[in-house]
Amino acid sequence: MSLAAKTAVVTGSTSGIGLAIARAFAKEGANVLINGFGDAAAIEAERVSIEKDFGVKAIYDGADMSKPEEIAAMIAHAEKTFGSVDILVNNAGIQFVSPIEDFPVEKWNQIIAINLSSAFHAIRAAIPGMKARKWGRIINTASAHSLVASPFKSAYVSAKHGIAGLTKTAALELATFGVTVNCISPGYVWTPLVEKQIPDTMKARNLTKEQVINDVLLAAQPTKQFVTVDQVAALAVFLSGDAASQITGANISMDGGWTAA
Ligand code: NAD
Repeated sequence: MSLAAKTAVVTGSTSGIGLAIARAFAKEGANVLINGFGDAAAIEAERVSIEKDFGVKAIYDGADMSKPEEIAAMIAHAEKTFGSVDILVNNAGIQFVSPIEDFPVEKWNQIIAINLSSAFHAIRAAIPGMKARKWGRIINTASAHSLVASPFKSAYVSAKHGIAGLTKTAALELATFGVTVNCISPGYVWTPLVEKQIPDTMKARNLTKEQVINDVLLAAQPTKQFVTVDQVAALAVFLSGDAASQITGANISMDGGWTAA
């Protein structure tokens, strides 16, 4: 499938799932805007490597997804540089784990802003152009936690359930404009973030690496395997193609059977 001549904006794409999605779109020929935090030199190296590896144009915008005006400016930046935003992936996200009664109010506000409201602001800014061109793809990175809960993740679970509702609403509003809106709901994905937790958990619980993976991390995932970032990216590419033009308003699980249980 080719996404040549398309432009994709992927939020939270300096790492993990977002980076894999941005690279997968670039591989299909799309110009990309990458976004997220991190070391400036490392981000610039990644931007240059996307251009070099895939022969597309890649730009970086450091918009903070908790700031509505920066999000609108990021969409305008892509439209000005490339002439359009054809594909928008709302992927940036953070986590915080605590019982509700101790959950810091500022952490709640931050997670709702970054994991939920940022998608509203980006969609709001990208819609006029997509409607005018009668083509668009909006993909939200939700989570198994858009469908089921876990204790101590109140803000994350609320934000991800919210993303599922926003996805359906936007899909209905845009259904006759050639714009599809879907969310992908991964279970545990093997990212540096997950990998880095393993040594500490081994020490804290006196477990082997295999026990940490199977009994702690993958306890909820029946396949006992991690989802890979490339698998999530492949689904995002599929949802961006013509074969997926009738998939809209869907919440597509990729969770090794987690939410079947
Ligand atoms: P990650 O930490 O590797 O990447 C998160 C990205 O978001 C980074 O690029 C980071 O810089 C960016 N980011 C964070 N705060 C930001 C802000 N205020 N403004 C702009 N960018 C910001 O994590 P990941 O595992 O790749 O997660 C990506 C998405 O996938 C998140 O929405 C997460 O909830 C979701 N998800 C992850 C998993 C998993 O197991 N890793 C499972 C289900 C869903």
